Amino acid sequence: MSAVFAVDIGGTKFAGAVVRADRTIADRAEVPVGADPTATLAALVARFDLTGVTGVGVGSAGPVHLDLGAVSPVNIPAWRRFPITAVLADLTGGRPVALAGDAQCMALGEHWHADIPTLLGVVVSTGVGGGLVLDGAPYLGRTGNAGHIGHIAVGRDDEPCPCGAFGCVERLASGPGMVRWAAGLGWTGTDARALAADAARGVPVARQAFARGADALAAAIVNTATLFDLHTAVVGGGVAAAGPVLFDPLRAAVARRSGIGFLHDLTVLPTALGRDAGLYGAAALALARA
Ligand SMILES: [Zn+2]
Repeated sequence: MSAVFAVDIGGTKFAGAVVRADRTIADRAEVPVGADPTATLAALVARFDLTGVTGVGVGSAGPVHLDLGAVSPVNIPAWRRFPITAVLADLTGGRPVALAGDAQCMALGEHWHADIPTLLGVVVSTGVGGGLVLDGAPYLGRTGNAGHIGHIAVGRDDEPCPCGAFGCVERLASGPGMVRWAAGLGWTGTDARALAADAARGVPVARQAFARGADALAAAIVNTATLFDLHTAVVGGGVAAAGPVLFDPLRAAVARRSGIGFLHDLTVLPTALGRDAGLYGAAALALARA
C-alpha cells in the first residue's frame, strides 16, 4: 500500500508521520524546535525510514507563500520566506512535496477522517486560524492563505489588531485576546487555561470573556457559512480543548446568528482528530498530489 510522509510545522514543535493510504499511521515522531529550526527539520526527517514513501505533505504555521513553496511562521523568526518545499524535497531524496497552511491541513484532515465534503476548519489557540475544504478539495487561495478566519473583522474600530486592521476575530477570540479582556476587568489569572477553568466554575468575568470570544467566532463562522453554503464547522486548538466552556456559548451564538434558511442546520463540531488533524491533512494533501 502506498504511504506518504506528513510533516506538521508548529511554533514550538515539528511533528512527522508516515501515513498509509488507508489512513493508518505507520510511524511518528515529534521534535521540539531548537535554535536552528532547519537543523530541527533535518533531525525530524532523519528519524524515519522512508522506504515505500511516494510523496511528502507539509502543513505549516503561516503566512504561506504558495508560489515560492515558502513559509514565514510568525513564531519562528529564523524562517522568513523559508523554502520549505525545496528543503524537504532535498531531505527526502527528491520526493515531491505538497504545501499548505497548518489550519488548512487541519480542515483537510477532518474532511479525510469524517468524509465531510465541504467544511470550515477553525483552530482557536494563541491565534485563530482556519481552512476551507470545498467539494472535497482544499481551497488554498491565490497566495496560499485562504480561510484565515482570524482576521475577518467582526468587532469595532477601537479594537486594533497587530495585522494592521481592527475588530479582527483573533483579537477577540484567541486565548490571549480573551485573557487580555478579562484582565482589563480585574481578572488576575495567568492564561487561557486558567480562564477556562474559572469559566467552568462559573466565575462571571471568565464566562463573559468566553461568551464574547465565542460570539466573535460565531459571527465569522456564520459569515463564512453564508458565503460558501457550509453545513459544518469543525473547531480545534488549545482553547477549544476547554470543551463546553467554549462550545456551549459558540453553538448558541451560531444558532442566534444563523438567520437565512439554508443555514438552519449549520453544525459546529469539536475536532475528531485533535492534535493529529494537521498531520492527517498533510498526508491527504500528499496523497492527492501523488
Ligand atoms: Zn487582524
